[in-house]
Amino acid sequence: MPDCNLPKDLLRGLKPFLPEMLEMLREFVSVESPSLEKATADHCCGIIAEEWRKSGVGVERIPQDLRGDHLRVTYSPQKSHSSKQLLVLGHYDTVYPTGTLAKTPFRISGGKAYGPATFDMKAGIVQAIFALRALQQADVTLTKRIVFLWTSDEEIGSGSSHQLIETEACRSDAVFVLEPSFGPRGLLKTARKGVGEAQLHVQGRPSHAGLAPEEGVNAIHELAHQIARIEEWNDHRRGVSINADIVEGGTRTNVIAENARALLDLRALRASDMHALERRLHALRPIHKGARLKVTGGFDRPPLERKVSATLFARAKALAKQMGLSLGECTVGGGSDGNFTGALGIPTLDGLGAVGDGAHSDHEYVLVNTMPARAALLAALLATC
Ligand SMILES: [Zn+2]
Repeated sequence: MPDCNLPKDLLRGLKPFLPEMLEMLREFVSVESPSLEKATADHCCGIIAEEWRKSGVGVERIPQDLRGDHLRVTYSPQKSHSSKQLLVLGHYDTVYPTGTLAKTPFRISGGKAYGPATFDMKAGIVQAIFALRALQQADVTLTKRIVFLWTSDEEIGSGSSHQLIETEACRSDAVFVLEPSFGPRGLLKTARKGVGEAQLHVQGRPSHAGLAPEEGVNAIHELAHQIARIEEWNDHRRGVSINADIVEGGTRTNVIAENARALLDLRALRASDMHALERRLHALRPIHKGARLKVTGGFDRPPLERKVSATLFARAKALAKQMGLSLGECTVGGGSDGNFTGALGIPTLDGLGAVGDGAHSDHEYVLVNTMPARAALLAALLATC
């Protein structure tokens, strides 16, 4: 590994910029960007683009019809003619509808910066901007092009950005995801469960519950049996879970239910378990004679398996150590866009963003003092990977 003073130097260079980092965080958080409100999100996209433009990078808005525009920022080191690329990935959309800010405005108190999407993940975008500035300021020679991709629909499944993310990932040697870290120690996320949703629909046969019960096939009873069967597939040690989150069925009393359905939440830590779970679901057969089953849906995000993160995490840990910091890792049950890049087999390191807590809640915050070090860590990774 080159120059082992580099991480420390980057950190030393970044520390004095904490007030500027917080000012930029305030600016980004003070412009709301709900995934489902295009015009509002576009406005935020423009503000973020403006900040990037100050760093002398290529900034390109990728227009979207329905969602906010995506933002692709490219930094090509002048001395390099290499076609190699690193990808820094994140999203600027939030789960908060317009108006949330009025109830929970941006504020700094007790070393924490509060406000909607501070932690998930506008502070991550700020850290990336300052990581690049630190590399420029330290005159670090980069050998690879760096693409920063900020998308507008991660919180709603990445329908409009999925393809773009995969295309950029396929051109890259490594992907750094600036989703929030985990817990007060800021653990990186070296594995994420794959996540999906399936619907199990049961069709029975309606009949008068009093006059002709024997002629009916009760869809609710069938569904209840199927759910009991499905529940057995949970294997928490292997990281496999299947949960009926919503059930509905029947029309009124006195009538044997003709229809019933369950919405199932699916999670798996390994791709093989994901495929097995989908196969099992589709192989379900009715228990009650005359009932019919239909299964739709499946996994939307495949698992991010630890094996695609391991080498990058070891690198990050070593770089953090050179800054005098210890870095830990964890596995989480929720997915991110890192799941897409990891499933392509491209080395992916997730949870490199902010340290804090309370994502998707009214007490979301970032630990402000951690921001320079996290920016320095990203900068060091970009300089050495
Ligand atoms: Zn996020």
